[in-house]
Amino acid sequence: MGKFVYSFNEGSKDMRDLLGGKGANLAEMTKIGLPVPFGFTVTTEACTRYYEEGKTIGEDIIEAIFEKLAELEEVSGKKFGDVENPLLVSVRSGAKVSMPGMMDTILNLGLNDVAVEGMANLTGNPRFAYDSYRRFIQMFGDVVMEIPKKKFDAVFDAQKEKNGFKYDVELTTEDLKVIIAGYKELVKAEMGREFPQDPKDQLMEAVKAVFRSWNNDRAILYRKLNEIPDSIGTAVNVQSMVFGNMGETSGTGVAFTRNAATGENALFGEFLVNAQGEDVVAGIRTPQPIKEMADAFPEVYAEFVRIAELLENHYRDMQDMEFTVERGKLYMLQTRNGKRTAPAAVKMAVDMVAEGLIDKETAVSRIEPAQIDQLLHPMFDADELAGAEKLTKGLPASPGAACGQIYFNAADAEAAVANGAKAVLVRLETSPEDLAGMVAAEGILTARGGMTSHAAVVARGMGKCCVSGCSEIKVDEEGKTLTIGEYVFHEGDYISLDGSKGEVLNGQVKTVPPTLSGDFGTIMSWADEIRTLKIRTNADNPRDAKQAVELGAEVLVSAEQSTCSSKKKESQQSEE
Ligand code: ADP
Ligand code: MG
Repeated sequence: MGKFVYSFNEGSKDMRDLLGGKGANLAEMTKIGLPVPFGFTVTTEACTRYYEEGKTIGEDIIEAIFEKLAELEEVSGKKFGDVENPLLVSVRSGAKVSMPGMMDTILNLGLNDVAVEGMANLTGNPRFAYDSYRRFIQMFGDVVMEIPKKKFDAVFDAQKEKNGFKYDVELTTEDLKVIIAGYKELVKAEMGREFPQDPKDQLMEAVKAVFRSWNNDRAILYRKLNEIPDSIGTAVNVQSMVFGNMGETSGTGVAFTRNAATGENALFGEFLVNAQGEDVVAGIRTPQPIKEMADAFPEVYAEFVRIAELLENHYRDMQDMEFTVERGKLYMLQTRNGKRTAPAAVKMAVDMVAEGLIDKETAVSRIEPAQIDQLLHPMFDADELAGAEKLTKGLPASPGAACGQIYFNAADAEAAVANGAKAVLVRLETSPEDLAGMVAAEGILTARGGMTSHAAVVARGMGKCCVSGCSEIKVDEEGKTLTIGEYVFHEGDYISLDGSKGEVLNGQVKTVPPTLSGDFGTIMSWADEIRTLKIRTNADNPRDAKQAVELGAEVLVSAEQSTCSSKKKESQQSEE
């Protein structure tokens, strides 16, 4: 029998196949002495076995998990389900290749009727403890038990309404207790059993749920789009919880070591005071720019800047980091090579060579073929743009130009595109369920969510134009209207998006072929130095041939170039 569970101090970044990207990098950060809440990783091989063995987890693996759990209890000095000092963990998915938001993560696992008391005493903040318990039951109910989220929302909203509250923060500890009782009743009615009170049962159910989430529809679609094999499976990370929602000296955030949209060498990201991690990513509250963290927590900010630089030097690539501050102490929760737009990829690669961080060959290998494609995408015609009516401004979440008819949900956008339309998907915020609609649309506009919201991250990954966090617009998804100032747009009306500036424009704005920046030329010249293949093109007219030469194809003068058939033949030969 192999080893199926590794503590964070047993792994390294080179173990991605086994520990998944998240697990391998948590191990690496632990190894180089960064503040990472301790935990362990159940391997991708355990996931493969789970599927091979009829969706069950082998006894030996369960035993290994409980051994590591005991170690975690010892290291943290906390105990699962304890009334004095309860251990709470997150259970986090993480495949070899990053699939942001596609699989499930459960926070605050370990809370039960007893541990919640312990946590209330320990923190001196019963409201916080009961709110965490409430969130946990909701998340577990949704992810593990697959009870529709709406049913939990109904219980929650009913209690708010009963008191005439507008905001969640108005709910008292007593209200939260009523909500928890309501949630538990809901679980019993839906599942025919009580909400599991034994944290070990909670843990094993959650691990299974993460394994299961490998095969949810959105994860399958994401793998198909990104050509990720179905067979590799996900690892599961079990990690001590830290709390960003413990008041005004706590917070949570996401940051990139460089600007993921432009490539500029400056820390880029967002954070929220007094919030738990999912709040930033889910776009529920629009977060503050990371620079403002310097005012909120100056010392923590300085420490974070230091770690960000250290990580970028260590990985020799731009890092996408998740962190949480618990009562003035910084914890790193994730790092990975960050997704970036094509222009950013080119700029970073060229800059990093100049900085001596990477060599030219590495720089060239950092540009994906699909990104070259993106660089060749149309942009707005400057004159047209000057004359266009700017309606409002959101965040420049993913650059590019888009023009199309608006649709208010993924299915409508997909259907319109199938009928030959160009669509712009307009949502309050996107969630992984919207993926197919985002793929179909020319661009995406959201009312809520920051530069690291789901819409922004996924759009950048796809090279699709996106304007997010456009707070001045009113989106009525049910009624299918978009209101901007005095204008009301209906399904099928045209708008245009400038993803580089975050602008929303009235009507159809014409686009033109892109102009290529100096950095692009630099990368191409390095590619020329390195390559051994000759590049020729199959151009059907002089204009295409001219463009191909400008983009680096070699000139090939042939007497027979006047006929199509001979050109085709020639290019076929040159490919051999
Ligand atoms: P995803 O793969 O979708 O990014 P993660 O596993 O990274 O999911 O979890 C989502 C968020 O939950 C993280 O960004 C982080 O803010 C929060 N989170 C996860 N584990 C912990 C933890 N141990 N303590 C505090 N917050 C956590
Ligand atoms: Mg994450």
